[in-house]
Amino acid sequence: MYTYEAPLREMRFVIERVLGAPAGWQAMPAFQDLDMATADEVLSQAARFTQEVLQPLNAPGDRQGCRIVDGRVKTPDGYPAAWQAFVDGGWPALACAPEAGGQGLPQLLNAALFEMLVAANHGWTMYPGLLHGAYETLKAHGSPELQARYLPKLVSGEWLAAMALTEPQAGSDLGGVRTKAEPRPDGSVAVTGGKIFISGGDHDLTPNIVHLVLCRLPDAPAGTKGLSLALVPSVLPDGTRNAMAADGVEHKMGIHGSATCVMRYEAATGWLVGAPHRGLAAMFLMMNAARVHVALQGLGHLDMATQNARRYAAERQQFRGAIAAQPAMRRTLMNLQAMTEGLRVLTYRAAMRLDEAEHHPDPDRRAAASAEASVLTPVLKAFATQQGFQGASDALQVWGGYGYVAEYGIEQTLRDARIAMIYEGTNEIQAIDLLQRKLLGGAGPAFDALLADLLVDADTDSDADAAEDDFGAALKAQAAQARDALAGVREAAVADPEAPLRVADDFLSGCAWLLLAWAWCATARAAQGGDAFAAERASVARHGLQWLLPQATVHWQRVRAAAPIPA
Ligand SMILES: Cc1cc2nc3c(=O)[nH]c(=O)nc-3n(C[C@H](O)[C@H](O)[C@H](O)COP(=O)(O)OP(=O)(O)OC[C@H]3O[C@@H](n4cnc5c(N)ncnc54)[C@H](O)[C@@H]3O)c2cc1C
Repeated sequence: MYTYEAPLREMRFVIERVLGAPAGWQAMPAFQDLDMATADEVLSQAARFTQEVLQPLNAPGDRQGCRIVDGRVKTPDGYPAAWQAFVDGGWPALACAPEAGGQGLPQLLNAALFEMLVAANHGWTMYPGLLHGAYETLKAHGSPELQARYLPKLVSGEWLAAMALTEPQAGSDLGGVRTKAEPRPDGSVAVTGGKIFISGGDHDLTPNIVHLVLCRLPDAPAGTKGLSLALVPSVLPDGTRNAMAADGVEHKMGIHGSATCVMRYEAATGWLVGAPHRGLAAMFLMMNAARVHVALQGLGHLDMATQNARRYAAERQQFRGAIAAQPAMRRTLMNLQAMTEGLRVLTYRAAMRLDEAEHHPDPDRRAAASAEASVLTPVLKAFATQQGFQGASDALQVWGGYGYVAEYGIEQTLRDARIAMIYEGTNEIQAIDLLQRKLLGGAGPAFDALLADLLVDADTDSDADAAEDDFGAALKAQAAQARDALAGVREAAVADPEAPLRVADDFLSGCAWLLLAWAWCATARAAQGGDAFAAERASVARHGLQWLLPQATVHWQRVRAAAPIPA
């Protein structure tokens, strides 16, 4: 049976042993009272919720999908009740500040929560997935009145949020947004326009939905520098419905339980969040966190696919034995396991950096953590989502023909996983963001600092045997490749400005493999002297090093060649 068991032991190993997070919490006043026992309790409760409440709704929600009834969107059966259970458990507020009514726990634990939620039910998780971003944006840029009216209800989960950016002519290039915001004498704006693909634009989980709408004031300059952000609630403070509606829900490949809405705003009442024409800047704050969340979607799918493939392979008999005993299947399962465990280390590391960027008492540490997070996030968003989809496809192969049949479950994971490569900035846009905008545009020192930090583990003295020292050697080799590749691209760009754009995807993948080399190295180091479970982690890491890391070569080779592509 296709089911979900939260990998609590693996999560704890990463948080405590590989990343040493509890010591980091002690250095941050916001988390000084937190210890591993409390974190364990939080994660165990999250595991219960995802396993007992969310996962059973996954396949039925996929079959039923969302529909419009009497002009309003209805989500699949059980979704509103699951939301209420989530709210009652205090989960929407996990990483929100205590002064806003939140629990003030680290993003790291929120990351583990979201890994579980997505693995168990991606469609449902789209609704709370937008909450934290809206909360952060409003907390940083909303007026005191807007904050007072909306923050407590968002933090408690009484109301949900939607992010309304995309329009038919404005997808990756948001400079083309046409939705208008006309100022009114009372300080509000009248928002008019059409948006498409708006996740959770309408639904029956909460009575009010707070839309953050990218729009243009009458005097706005053209392009992205003329975008403003308006808060537009579906229900106004006087209790009347705002002039906005979902005209339809998309019929799509996956995440059927998530209402992807075509939205119409007809002089809907809203209020600006942040300064006029500074809408994109207001949203930047939440972008790192939002992209780490999408990376976690890749991880969640990968884990769900992997653990079910392992269970199936152990049961399925062919050639007088379980297929799990066949070398080809053993290799596939170990590939999946190594990728899952490596990406867990990396996505959790990124979440830890977000915590440090916000809460570390030392301003230099805050700045360094923020700089590292901005490099890690595009790499992880793109690579982890690509691996989530690829891993689901590799896992499907373990079921043979049954994998292609809906009732076995893995085909839903494959379909659901695909979208994460597209939204929240497509993977191509992430690659350009990393190489062109960041590394060639001033974030070079952040990359150097990241490399230096990763290499600390390559040189860690250990009493390990020669095989374990291979980890350090592999990590050093990858770091050297990355440095050379970046220098080469920088040079090539002088004569051929298009070169970085051609190799950006490969460069990003190369960086991801470098990070994985570190993750497996750090895992092997953390496992030293441990129990049988730790030894298994080291052996999974070694498999990653031996069987997966060679794939890095092809990416670095392509970056070096930067061969022209016919126009
Ligand atoms: C299920 C779902 C949920 C969504 N949820 C939301 C939401 O809640 N809110 C919201 O505002 N939007 C949402 N979106 C929209 C999503 O963010 C966009 O689809 C995405 O940004 C891509 O835009 P596009 O579809 O117009 O593709 P396009 O921008 O037309 O891109 C098409 C292809 O060209 C590539 N491309 C474009 N420009 C470049 C370039 N300069 N260099 C290299 N490649 C390029 C892209 O990577 C892509 O592969 C959602 C979409 C879906 C399908």
